[in-house]
Amino acid sequence: MAGTAVVVGAGVGGLATAIGLRRAGWAVSVLERRTGLERYGTAFGLHPTAQAALDRLGVGEALRGRAVPYRGARIRTPAGKVLASLPLERIERRAGRPELLISRPYLIDALLAELDAFGDVPVELGRNVVAVEALVAANDLVVGADGIGSTVRAACFGKRSGPRHVGTVAWIGIADFESGICGETWGKGRFFGMTPIEPGRTNWYTTVPGATTADELSGHFEGWHDPIPRILAETDPSTWIRYEMRHLFPALPAFVHGGRVALVGDAAHAMTPNLGQGACTAILDAGALARAVAEHGPAGLPSALRAYDAQRRRSAQRTAFASRHLHRFMTSEHTRLRNALVRMLPS
Ligand SMILES: Cc1cc2nc3c(=O)[nH]c(=O)nc-3n(C[C@H](O)[C@H](O)[C@H](O)COP(=O)(O)OP(=O)(O)OC[C@H]3O[C@@H](n4cnc5c(N)ncnc54)[C@H](O)[C@@H]3O)c2cc1C
Repeated sequence: MAGTAVVVGAGVGGLATAIGLRRAGWAVSVLERRTGLERYGTAFGLHPTAQAALDRLGVGEALRGRAVPYRGARIRTPAGKVLASLPLERIERRAGRPELLISRPYLIDALLAELDAFGDVPVELGRNVVAVEALVAANDLVVGADGIGSTVRAACFGKRSGPRHVGTVAWIGIADFESGICGETWGKGRFFGMTPIEPGRTNWYTTVPGATTADELSGHFEGWHDPIPRILAETDPSTWIRYEMRHLFPALPAFVHGGRVALVGDAAHAMTPNLGQGACTAILDAGALARAVAEHGPAGLPSALRAYDAQRRRSAQRTAFASRHLHRFMTSEHTRLRNALVRMLPS
């Protein structure tokens, strides 16, 4: 084996990184603090660049079987008037393949199955990493893929950068019928999004300032166009996922530390979900890190980490910045100005 690597965190970023490093010939282990891998979560958008990265990791085919293409999405007013199209068709024309939507549990399962197939990559559950120095002492490479509250990041960079609330609560869920239309509906200070996820089901997400219960939330969408009220009425509230929207602030000065530690995914650049890039950027990080490490070999690890940082940091931080600003724009109270600007988007 080329060297030893330990990956902290078995989310999308950690599992994808473990596959990439193992393919590069490294001995890899994964430590995950949960006692079972969470099979919850709704849909992830997979941009064509992330799909290409998954192809290189060897899981693209498995995912395509479970993913659905995302096309024909529009931005609407609460009355149902179309303001603009989401740029999905342009992305598809340029990339030669569509944006895909995949359920989070399928993506996690596909990555795990690929890791399992190596037969020698342990995923240790119930391992809450606290002593990062001990891991650095025992391994050539430590990868912090431990999400927005990253212990690895705090050990390397202190607590200056950390999770910051953006002041909005997001709710996500899956309704057991197909909505017939998809896209986002932008109202005053709130929005509602719906996408396909698999036959017979609709993935939805929404934010409303100040709504803390399912009942309160539903009340804010009375009178909105079909099928928004029906989606909320027909999703069992006990399955709704509620989370406080957060991002990492301030942005990190580096994604690598001391020539032996790299951060990927939310640990490096957690962002608001408005651009739907949380999983994509984690997958791109994983691919870039594995490629840099493979190209430079174990002896060139510090150079590999510098190359990874140079390739991914600005790009991921730009995406996080754009997502944060899109969040403000989508939840603006000044709907006339916002809608006028949205109408100017190319279709
Ligand atoms: C259960 C779950 C469900 C989600 N559902 C959605 C969704 O429906 N839609 C959406 O847009 N985003 C969702 N997200 C967020 C999304 O998965 C991430 O933004 C994105 O995929 C980046 O992944 P990541 O691997 O960097 O971080 P994460 O997915 O957050 O994974 C980090 C992993 O590290 C583990 N970990 C943290 N600290 C330690 C430690 N000290 N020691 C060991 N392990 C540790 C965590 O338990 C977690 O499994 C979800 C995240 C989780 C954890």
